[in-house]
Amino acid sequence: MESKRGRLRGLMDSVANWPAVREIASLGMGPEAISEHTRRWQARILDADEKVVSVCPYCAVGCSQLIYVKNGSIIDIEGNPSSPINQGTLCPKGAATFELLSNPNRLTTVKYRAPYSDHWEDRPLDWAMERVAHLIKETRDQNWEEKNEKEEAVRHTTAIASLGGATLDNEENYLMKKLFTGGLGMVWIENQARI
Ligand code: SF4
Repeated sequence: MESKRGRLRGLMDSVANWPAVREIASLGMGPEAISEHTRRWQARILDADEKVVSVCPYCAVGCSQLIYVKNGSIIDIEGNPSSPINQGTLCPKGAATFELLSNPNRLTTVKYRAPYSDHWEDRPLDWAMERVAHLIKETRDQNWEEKNEKEEAVRHTTAIASLGGATLDNEENYLMKKLFTGGLGMVWIENQARI
């Protein structure tokens, strides 16, 4: 025959299983607070077709990223836990890299404002690259200095400058320095990021 203590324990167990009691005990954050709809949710990366290792394009820290691809399109970008640099983390800029591809407001053409113009025009990137190359050549030709006032060979131009951004990595900065100094004879070369 069931003892008084056993009956009391059974009663307490059944009270403890009441949804309202369970919800209060877990501060409303336990499984009883999860709807069937929410329970069916899963991380979108779980059914990705492919996971590609890449590097964040924003700054010279070079955090490693995992890029998840489904049906040929990128569906998510996350920090790579295997990287000794970022160990799975990304800063807010790196975490928003997905928007570089998916944001409908991203610029896809070059914005050009002609001298003395009061409005911007859309131009293709190839056109802008041609124009930059042309202006650099013209400026360099017009301002080339073979010798200084003491007749010492300098072979440079001080009419063109370069200010790099934080997105440039080591290798890009190396190539820029090589082209600008060795190739074009530029003197003023600076970079925003000194990492
Ligand atoms: S922008 Fe942020 S996530 Fe990207 S490389 Fe730099 S620190 Fe890392």
